[in-house]
Amino acid sequence: MELKTKLYINGQWCDGEGTLDVIDPSDESVIAQITTAGDKDADAALDAAHKAFATWSKTSPRYRAEILRKAFEIMIAEADYIATLVSKENGKVFSDAKGEVIYAAEFFRWFSEEASRTPGDFRHSPSGDKRILVTHQPIGVSLLITPWNFPAAMATRKLAPALAAGCTMILKPASETPLTAIHIVDILHRAGVPAGVVNYILPIKTGATMSKLMHDPRVRNLSFTGSTEVGRVLIKEAADLVLRTSMELGGNAPFLVLDDADIDEAVKAAMLAKMRNGGAACTAANRILVARSVAAEFTQKFSAAMGALKVAPGLTEGAQLGASVSMKERNKIAELVDMAKGAGAEINIGGEKPEGVGAFYPATVMTVKKDNPILSHEVFGPVAPIVIFDTDEEAIAIANDTEYGLISYVFSGDLSRAIRTAEALEAGMVAINRGVISDPAAPFGGVKQSGLGREGGFTGIHEFLETKYIGVEI
Ligand code: NAP
Repeated sequence: MELKTKLYINGQWCDGEGTLDVIDPSDESVIAQITTAGDKDADAALDAAHKAFATWSKTSPRYRAEILRKAFEIMIAEADYIATLVSKENGKVFSDAKGEVIYAAEFFRWFSEEASRTPGDFRHSPSGDKRILVTHQPIGVSLLITPWNFPAAMATRKLAPALAAGCTMILKPASETPLTAIHIVDILHRAGVPAGVVNYILPIKTGATMSKLMHDPRVRNLSFTGSTEVGRVLIKEAADLVLRTSMELGGNAPFLVLDDADIDEAVKAAMLAKMRNGGAACTAANRILVARSVAAEFTQKFSAAMGALKVAPGLTEGAQLGASVSMKERNKIAELVDMAKGAGAEINIGGEKPEGVGAFYPATVMTVKKDNPILSHEVFGPVAPIVIFDTDEEAIAIANDTEYGLISYVFSGDLSRAIRTAEALEAGMVAINRGVISDPAAPFGGVKQSGLGREGGFTGIHEFLETKYIGVEI
């Protein structure tokens, strides 16, 4: 399959103003040189999206649904190729990459089904003086900005509902992982998305170019997934033109193991919740909170499972833990572990930055006190700090002691106790007795500084729709 590397504007693969090397973090080699965009290219993408909106927003839901269904089928047929691309540019192991690609394709399927189910409302006003007609209309040109950790799924989680709703868009993926996003744009091209509806750019100067786009009144919506730090900057920028925003930001998930939990099941789930994507997930279990009576057994079994992982480049047969996305990201992980050690963390396994080529960091388990500073950082790597607690109330207080509120995990043999705990946790999502709950059919999103809005589920399409009320004299 031909590797696409150019910008995609108005249905054409275009040259831009510069180039950027895409690096394989497992050996630091250059995989590809891709085209980057100047402000002129960003303007051209906006012109195209703005013009295409006039016709795309008027297409029938069924027409849009069928294009999305076709995109789903192409993506599934090409899943191995795309997973190889994900693994090479992101560093994650092939099995994680393949899982991501299937999950990503499911957003096309889910929103192909949702496209024709947008609800409306027609009612008598309470006084009887009029009829209340409520309808939903596509918002307009949307900017979609995505991170490097799920280069396929974060793109489809935005592209699919935006297309289903009838919006046009400009996709801007992370500079580290553009190849997967470009391939997905090509799938949409082949599935029959008309020219101008989906445009892809990778700016030479991300901040300046995206800020310029956000200050153009033709742009009506920003859907961002990335760090809370950048999210805050974008919310401030969006204020200038009161741009509608949806923010899927950072997380610092607690994983609670209560004293009646099935420890073997909890260990298996903790491995998934912590290690999917090598720990580089907004949903990653970053703070493992374990009841004192089961702490020794859990720590021993969990450390053994972490220590048994095969660390190797993502495409190596049997690899279970690949490279981080870059040396810079890997070094950040090492600095956080060093900080934790300086504050008294006891290392069970791992904890040392390896020498040599590639952005690798070993699976690391440490036991820390509840005031260790590592607990207030989003560690985007294979590092699991364990904190021991004495009561459920204490566990909930530690879990909620963070500015983040994306997801929490609870393990307990008593469902009522687990639900009571889930209700007390400040998080947009809670997993009970499971290590993964992400599902295109469920609303994904956080509270507190983990973001605004929900992607997926029945609400996902509404991030790209405006509600209009029409009052009718009778
Ligand atoms: P990031 O540094 O915030 O970057 C995310 C995206 O924003 C990239 O495309 C980046 O482009 C772009 N960007 C950076 N500065 C910008 C600016 N001033 N204006 C416009 N765009 C800008 O995040 P990351 O390191 O790629 O991803 C990791 C973060 O994403 C973690 O915090 C993780 O928790 C979060 N995340 C959240 C979710 C969720 O659903 N809640 C899902 C996945 C990841 P460049 O690459 O060109 O800088």
